[in-house]
Amino acid sequence: MSGGPPPPVFGLPAACAAAVAAAAAAGYALGWRGWGGVVLLAVAAAAGAAALLLLIERAGARRGRDLLPFIPPAARRAFLMAFHPICRLARRAIGRSGERVDAAFIAAANRYAVLARPGRGGRDVLVLLPRCLQRSDCAANLLESVDECARCGRCDCALLIEIAAAYGCRTVMVAGGRLAQAVVEETSPAAVVAVACEKELMEGLREVGGVPVIGVVNLRPEGPCRNTRVDIAAFRAALADLALPADDRPGAGVS
Ligand code: SF4
Ligand code: SF4
Repeated sequence: MSGGPPPPVFGLPAACAAAVAAAAAAGYALGWRGWGGVVLLAVAAAAGAAALLLLIERAGARRGRDLLPFIPPAARRAFLMAFHPICRLARRAIGRSGERVDAAFIAAANRYAVLARPGRGGRDVLVLLPRCLQRSDCAANLLESVDECARCGRCDCALLIEIAAAYGCRTVMVAGGRLAQAVVEETSPAAVVAVACEKELMEGLREVGGVPVIGVVNLRPEGPCRNTRVDIAAFRAALADLALPADDRPGAGVS
C-alpha cells in the first residue's frame, strides 16, 4: 500500500449498487415480465435504496457528521461490508490492487467504531497485536503474555504495549485471525483496537459481530509476515478514540 491511508469507502459501493439497480431496471424495461420482472423490480428498488444510503454515508463522512444517527453503527458496518466482495472484484477488473480497497473499507469500519462510542474504555478495550510485529530473532514468548517483552526497543512491540498500558487496555498478541476471534469471544470487550494487515483485518471485521473495531494497518518494510511495523500516531489516535472516557474522546463532538 502507498500514498497514506485512503478515506472511508462509500462512493465505490454506492456506484456498484447503482450499477446493479440500473441493470435490473434495464432488464425490466427490455420486456422481462412475470415473476422474473417482479424480481428485477425488487432488485432495482433495493439496490437503488442501498446506493442512496451509501451516498448519505459518504456525505456524512465528508462533513465529519453522522447523518444517519437512528441506524446503529454496527448494522451500518455489516451493510457496508456486504459490498466488499463486489468492490474488490470491480477494483481488480480494472487492474488495481485489492489492498487499497480493503484499507478504505477498514477506514469506514473505523468511522463506525468511533460513531458507536462504546461507553466503557480502558480495561474494557482489547488491543490485539499480530505476531509479525515481534522481531523475528526475539526469543520472548509474547503469545503467552505481552509481559514477556523485555522492552529492548528493537521492534515496535515495546512501545505499543507501553502506550496501551497507559490507556489501561488489555493487550494480547495473537498468531492469526482465528485466535484473535477466540480472544474476542472469550473476553467480550467493549471495543477492539487491532493491528494487522488488510487481509487479516477484513477477515476479523467479518467475524467479530457487532463489536466496534478500529483497525490499524501494519507497515511491511520487509514484506508480509516478518518484522512488520506500526504507524505509532495512528495507533495512539485509535486508543484516544476508544479507550479514553467517552466525554474525553476526540470524536465526542460528532453528531
Ligand atoms: S521490543 Fe525487544 S524484547 Fe520486546 S518483542 Fe521486540 S525484540 Fe522482543
Ligand atoms: S502480515 Fe498479516 S497475515 Fe502476515 S502475520 Fe502479519 S497480520 Fe498475519
